[in-house]
Amino acid sequence: MRLIKLLSNLGYGSRKEVQKYIRMGIVTDAEGTVLKDDARTAHEDIRFNERRLDPAHGVVLMLNKPTGYVCSLKDTGKLVYELLPSRFAERKPVLSTVGRLDAATSGLLLFTDDGDYLHRIISPKNHVAKIYEVTLARPLEGHEAAIFASGELILDSEKTPLKPAQMEQTGEKTARLTLYEGRYHQVRRMFAAVGNHVEALHRAQMGDLTLGGLEPGKWRLLTADERDGLL
Ligand code: URA
Repeated sequence: MRLIKLLSNLGYGSRKEVQKYIRMGIVTDAEGTVLKDDARTAHEDIRFNERRLDPAHGVVLMLNKPTGYVCSLKDTGKLVYELLPSRFAERKPVLSTVGRLDAATSGLLLFTDDGDYLHRIISPKNHVAKIYEVTLARPLEGHEAAIFASGELILDSEKTPLKPAQMEQTGEKTARLTLYEGRYHQVRRMFAAVGNHVEALHRAQMGDLTLGGLEPGKWRLLTADERDGLL
C-alpha cells in the first residue's frame, strides 16, 4: 500500500495532510531516512515523528475509562475517543469499543478495528468473563448470589432469562459480579431486580486481563499474547 493511503487509513491525517507530512520529512525509516510515497519500507520499520506506527489491522487497546465519558463516536457528551490520540477516531476500518460501559461506569474498556475479534469477545458462546466491582445503595440481603446463579432471572421487558452469573459479597454494600454476556445496563438492572440500586460500577477484569497499574483516563495497546489470551 502507498504510504499516503497507509498513514491516512491509520488516522494520521487526511491524504492531503499526510502528503504534507511526507514532504516535511517527518515520515522516515528506522534509520531516519526520509521516505517518499512510493517507499516499500515494511510497516514495522516506518517512523512518524520518530515513533513507530500503530499496528495495522487487528489492533486492540485498553482504556481505563473514567466515569462521565460515553462509549460513542458521536454524542453530545464527553466521548471515550477524546481520551485517545485523535488518529484512533479517524482509522479505517473504524476503531470500535468492544461492548459498552455506561457513562456512569468506570474501568476496563477495549477497542478494536477487528470486527470478528470484537464479536467473539462479546458473544456469550465464548464465555469471556467480565468482572465488575459493584457498590450498592443498600446492604446485601444474602439471597442475591443464588438468584443471579440460577439462570432463571428475567429482566424487565425481556423474554429470555439471564445466563448464570457469579456474585461474591465483598462488604456490606459491595460485591464482585462475574458475567458472561452483556445486556443493556445489565448489572444495574440485575440489582434493581433484587430490590437494590447500584451507586458505583467499575469493570475490573475481562478474562484474565486486568487494568494493572493503568491510571484512569490512560490507555495502552494490548500485546499479541494478551489479545489472543482473551479467547
Ligand atoms: N452493566 C451495566 O449496568 N452498566 C455497564 O456499564 C456495564 C454493565
